[in-house]
Amino acid sequence: MTPRETCCCCDAPPQTGLAPWHLVCPTCGYERAHLEPAINVGSAHDELDEAQRDTGLRALRDQNFRQLLDRLVPQLPGKRLLDVGAAHGWFVQRAAERGLQAEGIEPDEAVCAQAQRNGAPLRPGFFPQALREGERFDAIAFNDVFEHIPDAAGILRACHERLEQGGLLVVNLPSSRGVFYRTSKLLQRLGLPGSFERMWQKGLPSPHVHYFDAANLSRLGARHGFEAIDTFHLPSVRVRGLYSRIASVRSGRWKAPIVWLGVVLAYPLLAVLPADIDVVVFRRVAAPRSGG
Ligand SMILES: [Zn+2]
Repeated sequence: MTPRETCCCCDAPPQTGLAPWHLVCPTCGYERAHLEPAINVGSAHDELDEAQRDTGLRALRDQNFRQLLDRLVPQLPGKRLLDVGAAHGWFVQRAAERGLQAEGIEPDEAVCAQAQRNGAPLRPGFFPQALREGERFDAIAFNDVFEHIPDAAGILRACHERLEQGGLLVVNLPSSRGVFYRTSKLLQRLGLPGSFERMWQKGLPSPHVHYFDAANLSRLGARHGFEAIDTFHLPSVRVRGLYSRIASVRSGRWKAPIVWLGVVLAYPLLAVLPADIDVVVFRRVAAPRSGG
């Protein structure tokens, strides 16, 4: 979405947001960034300590994936699940434990190879190019992935094509209504861009290009033949593994103890403030609107 483009959710013209690369839809609240992805580029990877990030994220993701599968499994029309951007294969493994035939696709070659060595059924590559012709699924999941893909409409069209009728599309992503994101915007307005840039993952291997909330994401899905049938939140912070996550960005490591302490002190508050992760479960209902 450049100033001449329209909002992917509602077609309204966007307005310049809080940075030269940031745009906001005044009608539905959808946000877009123009940040260059750098997957498989060495220098961006150097900025992250992958091992430390893994330890930190694993505890959070594992608990969130279990909670997500609790909601998802009873609604599935069949057992074939595809996880797009499967990373280390953690979601695929949790889904397999629930009796699903789960597979993943992962574009980061090094991460994919590592997951394969750990026994996760992953294929290297991008969605949908990495799939075989005519291959279809009962569910397609995007866990912290959808917000990284610039062509949201193209991805939804591909999902519609690759899902069985009545199949489920699961989109799990950071929410523009979440307390951390809103706080980062406030700090950005006060001239402190660090956390806002971190929320968008500016300068990291795969920055965010979208910030949605459940309402505008549901609206986007509806334009492409998907009905939102379930919406819920997941926590973006659990104390277990938090320090490793904060310390995984090398340039920010010196301030990690301060950030950690701040988050831990605020932790009881987080339970009552707007949640930072939205999950929308869509059902494939109809042919997508042409050209949408
Ligand atoms: Zn909009």
